[in-house]
Amino acid sequence: MSCMRIALLLLVPVVAFSAWQYVKREENENRLALVASAVALRDVDVSCPGFWTRLVEITPNAGWVDFDRHGRPSDETNLSAATCSSLERVWRRKERSFRCLLAGRCSEKTLRAVSGIVTLAHESWHLRGILNEARTQCYAVQTTEAVARSLGVAAVDARAIAVRVALDDSSSAADEYHSGECRPGGAYDLRPDTTAWPSG
Ligand SMILES: [Zn+2]
Repeated sequence: MSCMRIALLLLVPVVAFSAWQYVKREENENRLALVASAVALRDVDVSCPGFWTRLVEITPNAGWVDFDRHGRPSDETNLSAATCSSLERVWRRKERSFRCLLAGRCSEKTLRAVSGIVTLAHESWHLRGILNEARTQCYAVQTTEAVARSLGVAAVDARAIAVRVALDDSSSAADEYHSGECRPGGAYDLRPDTTAWPSG
């Protein structure tokens, strides 16, 4: 066999694998963009790193949105590989139940799925134009339930996620991402007409 033929034989599975990865990623990005657009109230995109990028990706951020110097958000959020794959597990129904959250005993994968959902909600609020981190995070806490539902999570599980996330958030000390205004009747309450929390 010639070198050329061996090279081609090696190339075929690599190309096939890359194509499969590409299709899978597109599918995930499109699914997540639908959810983000519903929160942002406009058409936005979600970008996930590709397989080969993922091998060299080093990022401490779960997700981010760029803003221009006038404070306008871009039309796309970049999510980390970990966030993308956690969210993919959720909508592909690989995380079957979140009721473990009520007992406080969940697997690492389930906890990562929860933080993926919060991240998607958070970045979606940035895409809607909210710049302040504490306000963004507070709105994310209040829309976690809706975002989980849009990803196909059952109602009772989405509620368990929302309650757990709100509890964890309210016990966090005030910092760039946490404000005392994030409470029922606070300045960041999306539904000041109700005392229920979280309600988005
Ligand atoms: Zn943020």
